[in-house]
Amino acid sequence: MNWRTLLGLLMACLIVIAGSGCSSKGADSSEKSKEQKKPLHIVTTFYPMYEFTKNIAKNKAQVDLLIPANVEPHEWEPSPKDMAAIQKADILVYNSSYMETWISSLQKSLGKDGPIFLEASKGISLMEGVEEDEHEHGDDAEHHEKEGEHGLDPHVWLSPVLAQHEVQMITEELIKQDPQNKVDYEKNSQAYIQKLKDLDQLYRKTLQNTASKEIITQHAAFGYLAKQYGLIQVPIAGLSPEEEPSPSKLAELKNFAKKHHIKVIYFEETTSPKVAQTLADELGAKTEVLNTLEGLSKEDQEKGLDYIEVMENNLKSLANSLK
Ligand SMILES: [Zn+2]
Repeated sequence: MNWRTLLGLLMACLIVIAGSGCSSKGADSSEKSKEQKKPLHIVTTFYPMYEFTKNIAKNKAQVDLLIPANVEPHEWEPSPKDMAAIQKADILVYNSSYMETWISSLQKSLGKDGPIFLEASKGISLMEGVEEDEHEHGDDAEHHEKEGEHGLDPHVWLSPVLAQHEVQMITEELIKQDPQNKVDYEKNSQAYIQKLKDLDQLYRKTLQNTASKEIITQHAAFGYLAKQYGLIQVPIAGLSPEEEPSPSKLAELKNFAKKHHIKVIYFEETTSPKVAQTLADELGAKTEVLNTLEGLSKEDQEKGLDYIEVMENNLKSLANSLK
């Protein structure tokens, strides 16, 4: 029997099961064969969730990336097509309900039909966000709603130490749902965690004796990284990149930059660098990319770039501007 015939049979089976309102015998045997043969299907939200999961699963599970590479995940919401894709999955891996703010309503609407929702940052005590300009925007109800949800900082994946926690959380869930591949998941996970530990060591060594510690970033994505390695992050925007700074905030940033002799203003690959560029021009500073990994462009992925390498590039760029 070739795979097309098999697929056809499987589809017919599913239709019969759905149509008969799941006769218990049919459902049981289909459940059983699913457990034995079908690889785990995991949908992940944005790039680091994908890379962490892929490195644990390797070829033992199907791992998909939900949010397209060049879309800013803070602003993304699932379309009906995305919801259907999520519904079919066994597990949805996401970072935090403070990042993927659509999670709780989706979880409610899918109910028992949905996959397992795995929050990779669960167990990490999240920091308060930086103070935002609360009355700057015209402000619809949606913005206010989001403001409340943006209260805690979700950017934990940018700390190589907290990233290890997320990998561990994902590993445990994969093993729980697919115990047959436990040995592989554990082995892969340990190898990847070792890479993250090496990355952490490199950060510690490189950043411990820098002349200055202050960085100006496009949005407040690097709070955990800064805290981990003794840096001071001053973001132009708040926890979400769409929040533009007020003129008074910009003046404050300019004073800060002058006081600390800041030569580089960091911007991101997935959002417009306009404000960062304006600030840099006014200060006579350079602009440089500090990648938040909120999306990794197709070109970058084709070049073979991954989380570890992008984080190494970020470190080089930090070390250059802080020396
Ligand atoms: Zn962000």
